[in-house]
Amino acid sequence: MKVTRLDLDGAGSPMALVTKILKVETELRAPIPIEDLARQLDIEKIRALETEGFEGGLLTDENRQFGIILVNEGVTEGRRRFTIGHELAHFLIISHVPVTPGKFLCSRRDMLQWSEKETTRYARMEFEANEFAALILMPPPLLRKHIGGRAPNLADVEKISKDFIVSKDAAARAYSRCHHENIALAVAKDGKILRYYPGVNFPFITAPIGKPVPRGSVFHRSSLKQRVSSDIVQTTADNWIDVEYGQRAPDLYEQVYLQKNGFALILLWLERTEGEDEDFDPDENRTSKQRLQDRQARWSR
Ligand SMILES: [Zn+2]
Repeated sequence: MKVTRLDLDGAGSPMALVTKILKVETELRAPIPIEDLARQLDIEKIRALETEGFEGGLLTDENRQFGIILVNEGVTEGRRRFTIGHELAHFLIISHVPVTPGKFLCSRRDMLQWSEKETTRYARMEFEANEFAALILMPPPLLRKHIGGRAPNLADVEKISKDFIVSKDAAARAYSRCHHENIALAVAKDGKILRYYPGVNFPFITAPIGKPVPRGSVFHRSSLKQRVSSDIVQTTADNWIDVEYGQRAPDLYEQVYLQKNGFALILLWLERTEGEDEDFDPDENRTSKQRLQDRQARWSR
């Protein structure tokens, strides 16, 4: 590797930093060697974090002369790598200032800070560190190539998690943002919605967080098997999104993947309507099953 901190000069946002790193390190491939990259960017050591209840930490000084990353070793490799990326961001983004001088300490909750609208400085900082970790571990150009022109499928989330060595949760979020189709992913735990990862154009999801998965969802079918992606089937759109009175409901498809420990991933795939077929709707006389088959054929070409 040849990138140095001088190459990153002036980059203050996660995306700008990752863009500058990729510009120098053109040979980077999945899985991204995050530890080597951290060392290349002046992290002296990566050590086990002994403080109970925290996921990661960074020891540094005000001018970032030195940096030591601390990481909770008792987690999966995917989460460990994400923590290293997150702490590396605190080191590289000079405007990040720890609560305790010289020492950042980040909890599991901090690592799930994904709201861009965060107003407190602390939450904003944690969001940026997560954004950087996700972008550097799954650089968008590599991820887009990995997804290719294929139709959305939860099997691909599993594959991204393996190939890029990231948690399924991190893979799910990146997948929904990077996919060319209009999709969102829901994470459920013990039958209740835990969080959503909507793609950039996905409409507001009305099923509330913390409440049970909507009754009409494929999630409730008894035929689902653990650790096998279900078929992709059409569902009633207003299980998940607002359908205006008097309007034709858009076609919404669902797929479910039951993980271990009561977790589940639910893919929501919304048919594109605007600009695609213009005045003429070739789907009009087909059944929803035929439409789905045609759509899948179109994307697997
Ligand atoms: Zn943090």
